[in-house]
Amino acid sequence: MADDYDDEFDKCGILDHSLSRLSLQVLGDHWGYGYDSLLIDLERWAQSPYVRLDSLGTSVQGRTLWEMTITGPDSTTTGIKPVVYVHARTHPNEVQAWWVTREMIKILLSQSSLGRHLRDNLIFHIIPMYNPDGVELEYPRQNANYVDIESNWYSTVLEPEVQVLRNRFVELMNSETPVDVALNMHSSISGTRFFVCHDQAGTSPLYFDFEKRYIGEVRSFYPHGIEPWYYSVTWTAGTPLRYPESWWWLNHHEDVMALTYEDNNSMLASAFDTTAAALLNGSYEYIYGHPVSIDGFKVGTTPREARLIGSYPNPFNRSTKIQIDLQIPGTLEMNVYNLRGERVTSFRQDYAEPGLYQLSWQALDAAGQTLPSGMYICRLLHNSRPKDALKLLLLK
Ligand SMILES: [Zn+2]
Repeated sequence: MADDYDDEFDKCGILDHSLSRLSLQVLGDHWGYGYDSLLIDLERWAQSPYVRLDSLGTSVQGRTLWEMTITGPDSTTTGIKPVVYVHARTHPNEVQAWWVTREMIKILLSQSSLGRHLRDNLIFHIIPMYNPDGVELEYPRQNANYVDIESNWYSTVLEPEVQVLRNRFVELMNSETPVDVALNMHSSISGTRFFVCHDQAGTSPLYFDFEKRYIGEVRSFYPHGIEPWYYSVTWTAGTPLRYPESWWWLNHHEDVMALTYEDNNSMLASAFDTTAAALLNGSYEYIYGHPVSIDGFKVGTTPREARLIGSYPNPFNRSTKIQIDLQIPGTLEMNVYNLRGERVTSFRQDYAEPGLYQLSWQALDAAGQTLPSGMYICRLLHNSRPKDALKLLLLK
């Protein structure tokens, strides 16, 4: 595991103070949106029956770190909904990423079929202003202690804002609604719109594959607006001990798709609503799969073609039964990987009729010995497309 700062490019671009001052003049105080503006918006949004507003803690100067939870009163799905976590305005001058996040909130609170559909099927937690002191002090990237709270998640002494968000992540991951997708909203001087993709050297081949799939799903809703995954690939020298994404990867591996999104940090930035819809739709598609069209938006409303229902027992000792629900005929493929991304077993049936299937997996290596204890990832493919994944815990 490397902590090689020099090899890491600055994902938000080299800070240009004169450009930042210029945008402050053009956009107005606090780059056009201060803590007071947020309080006005929050007061209005909190009227919505779909919003819960919580204080997660306070900043260095005692400002509240607000979290909005948005979800439907009920849902078409049964059981527990997947969770998308979004935090914005870590870097105060990257206000464009906030405009994207604000559009996401507007869609989620709207009466459109997209808004309703997303609320019904997912839970969103959104921190609109993670660094209110920096916004108020008009520091482009730091908090009140003049520390960059984006890249100091592994400092000896944690900043209060970092501690608050880490605590919240731990709390959610230990709850019955853990995070599935975590988006860290920024704006970069250097590019248009892109995700900061983490190389398999700093994650795993499987996770790298998941990242490409996630970015691909989002891009499918805005293909000419968002760069492909290979536009920005970092962590090629290992996992840097710096970022929220480092924390997610080191603690939760393939379980959480944690990425930084970078909008365009310039006066030319635009299409915040299109970008917001792409991020929401893409996150939904990544979690559920299967696009159809409603009101001009691509959203999933039909059952997944193929999904993993679950496994029993799990945790398991030597063997477990994995249930598959297949809605459409086709090739069925199931692979199990260890956390290093190595495939430990595979199953393939060239043609399978729709129906329920149960596969029994004996966790044995080629020599017939039980595999090492630990987490394994079972991955389902239908007609060669990834459809679903499931964690299996082997305890000997
Ligand atoms: Zn940034």
